[in-house]
Amino acid sequence: MRVRDGAAYRAGLNDGRRVLIDGEPVADVSTHPAFRNAVASFARFYDQQADPANRERLTFAVGEARVHKAWSLPRNHAELVDRRHAIAESSAPHCGFLGRSPDHLATTLTGMMIGLPVMRGFDPARAEAFAAYFEEVRARDLFVTYVIQNPQANKARSASEQARDVVAHLVSQDSQGIVVSGAKMLGTSSVMADEILVGTIQPVRPGEERYALSFAVPVNHPGVRLLSRRSYEQAASSVYDYPLSSRFDENDAVVFFDEVRVPWERVFVCGDPAAAGAQWHGTPAHVMQNYQAQIRLMVKMRFLTGLARRVAEINGTIDIPQVKGVLGRLAAQASMVEGLVAGMEAEGRMVGEHYVPSAHLLYAAQTLTQELYPQFVMAIRDLAGGGVIMLPSSVADMTSPHTRHYVEATQVSSIVDADERVRTMKLAWDALGSEYASRHTQYEMFYGGASYVNHAHMMRTFDWGAARALVDGVLPPPAVPG
Ligand SMILES: Cc1cc2nc3c(=O)[nH]c(=O)nc-3n(C[C@H](O)[C@H](O)[C@H](O)COP(=O)(O)OP(=O)(O)OC[C@H]3O[C@@H](n4cnc5c(N)ncnc54)[C@H](O)[C@@H]3O)c2cc1C
Repeated sequence: MRVRDGAAYRAGLNDGRRVLIDGEPVADVSTHPAFRNAVASFARFYDQQADPANRERLTFAVGEARVHKAWSLPRNHAELVDRRHAIAESSAPHCGFLGRSPDHLATTLTGMMIGLPVMRGFDPARAEAFAAYFEEVRARDLFVTYVIQNPQANKARSASEQARDVVAHLVSQDSQGIVVSGAKMLGTSSVMADEILVGTIQPVRPGEERYALSFAVPVNHPGVRLLSRRSYEQAASSVYDYPLSSRFDENDAVVFFDEVRVPWERVFVCGDPAAAGAQWHGTPAHVMQNYQAQIRLMVKMRFLTGLARRVAEINGTIDIPQVKGVLGRLAAQASMVEGLVAGMEAEGRMVGEHYVPSAHLLYAAQTLTQELYPQFVMAIRDLAGGGVIMLPSSVADMTSPHTRHYVEATQVSSIVDADERVRTMKLAWDALGSEYASRHTQYEMFYGGASYVNHAHMMRTFDWGAARALVDGVLPPPAVPG
C-alpha cells in the first residue's frame, strides 16, 4: 500500500511558489539555504511514517493508501489515545520544535469534519465543498498549514477601519468562485507546506462580512505571496553550533493574497460571520488543533527537562539539594502537561459518532502552558549559568591548531570530554537563549491565541454550574429566615 515518504513530499515543492526573503524571490525552497534543512526535517516526518517498521503504529488505511493517524476520526477513547501515540512518536525526532508539522492541520481538519453537520446548517454547498477537500487532502496525505489570524495592525480598530485595507477580504464573486485580496498573519510552515487553509477566527463586526472567509489554496496558487521572516536556519553557522535552529526552523511568513481567484470547490465560508466563527468553535476544530499542540508540547517539555538534567550533571551540580529541587519541579511541570493530555482524553465526549477531548481541560492546558513555557525556560537558564555563553566561537575552534588545545584546557567536566560539554551547552543555548529559542518562547505564548483569548475560552467551557452548586451547598442558611 502506498505511503507518502520524504521523496514524494520534496517532489512537490519545486512548483513555482512565490516565496520572498531578503528582498529576493526564492527559486526552490527545498535547496535554498534559508529553508532546505527544515524541508529535510519535514521530509523525515514522512520517511518515518513510510518506514515499514513504523507503518502500523503511525499510519492507517484510507482507500489505496496509508496516511498518518492524525487524519483519523476517533470513535472512542482508545482510538483517540492511539492517534496521540502516533503524534507523540512523530514529534520525537524534532523534540516538539516543529509546531506546524503535517499532523497539526490533519488533526484540525478532522475536527472540522467531525463538526460537518454544524457547517451544513449554515450552507450545505460550502460544507460539502469542505468534505470533498478533506477527502482529497487526506487521501494524498498532504502537508496543510493555515492562516486564521488577521495581521497585527491597530487593535483599537476593526478590519475595515485600518489605515489600509490590510486584512484578507472578498473582492468579488461570480459563478466560478471568489477573488480575495489582503493579508493574514504568520503562516508558520507555509513556505514548505503543500496547502494553505485560510480562516477567520476573530469575530467579524456587522457590516464587515467581506472579511468572513474560509478557503484553501495550494501554496503555489497564482497571486499567493509568502513574505518570510528572517531565517534562523540560514543564520546558523553549523549544525554543531546551532543544532536546533539549523534543522528545525519551520519559518513564519505573512501570507499576502494579490487578487487571488479561488474556485467554489475550495471555498468553505463566504461572507457569513457566524459560519466563520462556527468553523472553529461550533465544530471541534479548535479543540482538536490545540489538543495536537499539547501533545507536541508534552514531547518538548520532556526534552527540555532531560536537557536541564544533563546540564546539571555536566556541571556537577546535580547532587545539590536545591538543584534537585529545581529539577523535580521541572519534571512535575512537564508531567502536568502529560496529565492534562491524558485527562482531556479521559474526560472526552461524543460528537455524533466521534469522540473528542474535553474542551475545558484543553483550555486549562492552553492557559497554563502559555504562562508556564517562559518560566520553564528561565528556570533552566538559571540552572545553566554562564556555561551556555562560555563556549568556543564555532566548531572551527574544536579542530584548529590555534584553539583546540585551549578549548580542551577550558571546557572541563568530570563526566564528559570537552567536545560533549560544548555540544550539550550549545544545544542548551539554542533551545533556551538563541534568537530561535526566543521565537519559540513567543510561539508557545501566542500560537493558540493571546492569554486574554484563552481565559475567555476557559470562562466559556468550565462547568460553572457544578462549581456554584458546591458553593450553594455549604452556604449557611440566611440569618433572617424568609
Ligand atoms: C511564532 C508565531 C507563530 C504563529 N503562527 C501562526 C500560524 O501559523 N497561523 C496563524 O493564523 N497565526 C499564527 N500566529 C499568530 C497568533 O495566532 C497570534 O499572534 C495570536 O493570536 C495573538 O494575536 P496578535 O499577535 O495579534 O496579538 P494581540 O491580540 O495584539 O495581543 C498582544 C497583547 O496585546 C494585549 N491585548 C490586545 N488586545 C487585547 C484585548 N482585547 N484585551 C486584553 N488585552 C489585549 C495583550 O497583552 C496581548 O497579549 C503565530 C504567532 C507567533 C508569535
